[in-house]
Amino acid sequence: METKTERTEPQMFGHPKGLFYLFFAELWERFSFYGMRALLTLYMVNVIFEALSTRDYAAAAVYASYGSLVYASTVIGGKISDSILGMRQSIFLGGVLMALGHFVLAIENDMAFFLALAFIIVGNGFFKPNISTFVGTLYKDGDTRKDSGFTIFYMGINIGGAIAPLLCGWLGATYGWHYGFGLAGIGMLTGLLCFWSGIKKNVFGEGGKPPSMEVYEKKVLGLPQKTLIPLLAFLSAPLIAFLLYSYKSLGEEGTAFEDTNIVNLLFYLIGIAVIAYMANIMIKAAPDERKKLFMAVLITFFMTIFWGFHELHGSVITLFAARNVNLSIINASQTNALNSIFIVILSIPISIMWTYLAKKRLNPRTPYKFGMGLVFAGISFYILSLSGASADENGMVPFSYLLMLYFLISVGELFMSPVGLSKITDLSPKRIVAFMMGVWFLSSAYAFQIVGFISKQLAIESTDSDVGGLDTLYIYLDGFALIAKYALVAGVVVLIFGPLMKRLMGNVH
Ligand code: GLN
Repeated sequence: METKTERTEPQMFGHPKGLFYLFFAELWERFSFYGMRALLTLYMVNVIFEALSTRDYAAAAVYASYGSLVYASTVIGGKISDSILGMRQSIFLGGVLMALGHFVLAIENDMAFFLALAFIIVGNGFFKPNISTFVGTLYKDGDTRKDSGFTIFYMGINIGGAIAPLLCGWLGATYGWHYGFGLAGIGMLTGLLCFWSGIKKNVFGEGGKPPSMEVYEKKVLGLPQKTLIPLLAFLSAPLIAFLLYSYKSLGEEGTAFEDTNIVNLLFYLIGIAVIAYMANIMIKAAPDERKKLFMAVLITFFMTIFWGFHELHGSVITLFAARNVNLSIINASQTNALNSIFIVILSIPISIMWTYLAKKRLNPRTPYKFGMGLVFAGISFYILSLSGASADENGMVPFSYLLMLYFLISVGELFMSPVGLSKITDLSPKRIVAFMMGVWFLSSAYAFQIVGFISKQLAIESTDSDVGGLDTLYIYLDGFALIAKYALVAGVVVLIFGPLMKRLMGNVH
């Protein structure tokens, strides 16, 4: 029985027209996000922490906390949008905060740097989850175009992620860091403009409006919530900045390294709370639901491990590229574009491959795809760890090894990330899908805790701006070999337990 009225929103290329506005808005938002990420670690090592012998360590700590918070904030942003603001206002608020963050980064000042990161953290929390959910709401339940809609959207993400490091990395190296950061900010404003023009042209219909005008306008502490929330969001930035600023002293003379800091502690606590909450849901669930939920938790866990290696791109791999890779056409920041370039090239062939295999009834089920994804990550790091054999006397290795790393890990990403996204929605009971999406994003947040741990182990201690050479190379290569081992073991374990996990999934493929 058809209960909803037929949607009349305009269509384009066989999809709701709104998709293309969200596509460009997200493309530009990711442009700003990845343009800035390409410069971040090098900027910290060469400018913010330049004077410290432990600058790698301090940069690793900030990068990890920034990454963890930037993804954890999406859970809060998603929740506030669901209950009060609605997706439209949340996306605007997030976009403005992120643009502000990027422009503040263009100011040459240490305190401004940490404040800027904080603005981006809060802004991403409002923007990222809501624009992704918005895509889903363009389609009715059971609309078969939804998967391909998400594939198109994932392409937008990666087109932004491919162009931005090339442009911002070039600007940063040629004219100065702050021009690169400034361009990221302009990218974010362009994204907002795309979204705004979609609203002006009325392509979203009623979609994304506040869930209840009464709640939206309701006064709390003397202010309507629609004003209070943006205000609190702005005010939370200095607080987060203060938290991150505490890293400024990491390794300064007289200060000891603290391996556990407030952000780590926060994540332990959130982790315990989420596990307890999940356990409670699972105990109460019907047996069939329980099995599927358990599987959803497992794939989220595997994804965390994968991102933990993958997100090293913006830290250790960028430093490795700067110090030990023979680069001629592009610079170290620009190598950050490679992952997204491969995703853009490979996503259509790989999705065609799944359809082809499905027709022959050979499409591997999710646990096998996840196992293989981790194995790809392992092989990618293994190959990079072999690059020492081709190193010159200055400890520089050929670019082709870095290219192989990015190629293989991107294949792994396509075996896991888009597949997992749709399986989470299939495996979770309807009433907690939104919460499970939050948990899915939290996997990226926890991944940055792994990134922090690894990058700190691979931090090179030196104030010499020409750090590099054979000694540095071997520290990195040993690290990559170890990462490869862990990723391979994880992948093989997942593959071995594949048949068991397959059973948990019931009818979900
Ligand atoms: N590259 C994807 C994006 O930016 C996924 C990143 C992640 O979840 N860690 O959306």
